[in-house]
Amino acid sequence: WHEEVDLLVIGSGFAGQSVAVNANREGLGKVLVLEKMQVIGGNSAINGGWFAVPKNPVQLAQGINDDSPAELVKDQMIAARGMGNEQMLTKIANEALNAYNMCLDAGVKFKKDFNIQVGGHNKARAVRVEHGTGGDIVTKLYEAGVREGVDYRLQYKVEDFIMNGNEIEGVVVRRGYRFPDESTGELINIRANKGVVLATGGFTRNMELRAAVDPSLDPSLDCTNHLGATGEATLTAMAHGALPVHMNMIQTGHWGSPDEGGFGWSNALLSIGWHKGIAVNPTTGTRIMDERADRLTCSTAIMACRHKDGSPAYPLVFFNKNDHLGDARVTRAVRDEMAWEMDSLEQMADKFNVPLAQLKATVKQWNDYVAKSEDPDFNRKMDTAVKLKAPFVVSRVWPKVHYCMGGLKTDIDGRVVNARTMKPIKSLYAAGEVIGGVHGHARLSSCACLEGLAMGFILPKSIKADA
Ligand code: ADP
Repeated sequence: WHEEVDLLVIGSGFAGQSVAVNANREGLGKVLVLEKMQVIGGNSAINGGWFAVPKNPVQLAQGINDDSPAELVKDQMIAARGMGNEQMLTKIANEALNAYNMCLDAGVKFKKDFNIQVGGHNKARAVRVEHGTGGDIVTKLYEAGVREGVDYRLQYKVEDFIMNGNEIEGVVVRRGYRFPDESTGELINIRANKGVVLATGGFTRNMELRAAVDPSLDPSLDCTNHLGATGEATLTAMAHGALPVHMNMIQTGHWGSPDEGGFGWSNALLSIGWHKGIAVNPTTGTRIMDERADRLTCSTAIMACRHKDGSPAYPLVFFNKNDHLGDARVTRAVRDEMAWEMDSLEQMADKFNVPLAQLKATVKQWNDYVAKSEDPDFNRKMDTAVKLKAPFVVSRVWPKVHYCMGGLKTDIDGRVVNARTMKPIKSLYAAGEVIGGVHGHARLSSCACLEGLAMGFILPKSIKADA
């Protein structure tokens, strides 16, 4: 062994950071976080910073008193379409306020008075960090961890596990690794006396694995994830007996814009669009979906929009320009040409090749629906809907590969399960996106942040109990 610690946490996203900080606070001994990239944070640092917190103070100040962890789980189980893990979702949801308070204590700032209802949720319960990026949370937890004595190493890539039968004793690490060059760095062995926590995220950037488990995901689809989301730790765990579940359940983020790369501004812009605007198929001029539905519903409706030759017909999402003058989300999206200001439906039809008469009819009908506050076509909740009137802000959408619902099977306390025995692999734990089978067919928006951070309040207890 080159080094010996009590707890090894692999990965420095929401899950790794929260587990490390809380394990240290719980007195689990020397905690070492290994991150293979040159920066901390993984996907967590580049996501939108949305965080579902039932009973958060802004929600209560808004007069919403009937939310609870159980209400959140109800929504998650609907989105999961029969495939979710209700017990585990409940355990996670019950830690939401603790996770939120941990962020506040660490100095994370949230957007003032901001708490909204995001896709698939039946209540406004999503807060968002000040700068609209999970980086706000990752950096503050990192600072807290450093202050409190957690050790962090960058460019330490876990290559293999060192097992003693059904127990993990440590890991083989490539120290000085320079992503993506697999020959860089030197191999060392690190021992973990109390456990190894995999907080290594998903595998959306591993094109071979993605194609193997879900060939329906067009390889040309863009991806919102960081380049290191390659899932080798999941595969390594499988090689040592871990049970994978739901591997083909890979979520596409329906807010993706074909007019920018990666995660982009569109996520922020479309948080206006889904509430204040409508989504229209450019080939027909008609609406395509409940714009406030969950990701699976929306992505499916969007990807059904095709030209005759099968190529994508990017749906248009548009809302009133004058209602959002000076909004930074609009300004920067227009500046970067992933949204356009259109003076009239005629101009929009002309630019995007939409049948004008039908587009006009769609808007007229929508405005009638708003007046009656009901949407007979898609049963959309109408509390945030407004009548549409030119000029408009228009953007195009096409889903991007976003999140792996599948991964390693754990018990509800985060112990990784052995495929042969269905019992835990001793001392091997998992947290965050690397876990499979929690969200079933569709993870709801703002629930990855919750899951990763909440595991910090669950795993240290499991590790303590096993020690
Ligand atoms: P989560 O939201 O579940 O915390 P993230 O994607 O935010 O997931 O973070 C996972 C982190 O784990 C990323 O920063 C990624 O680079 C890191 N990681 C993945 N595989 C390895 C590995 N084999 N060794 C070290 N770090 C890894």
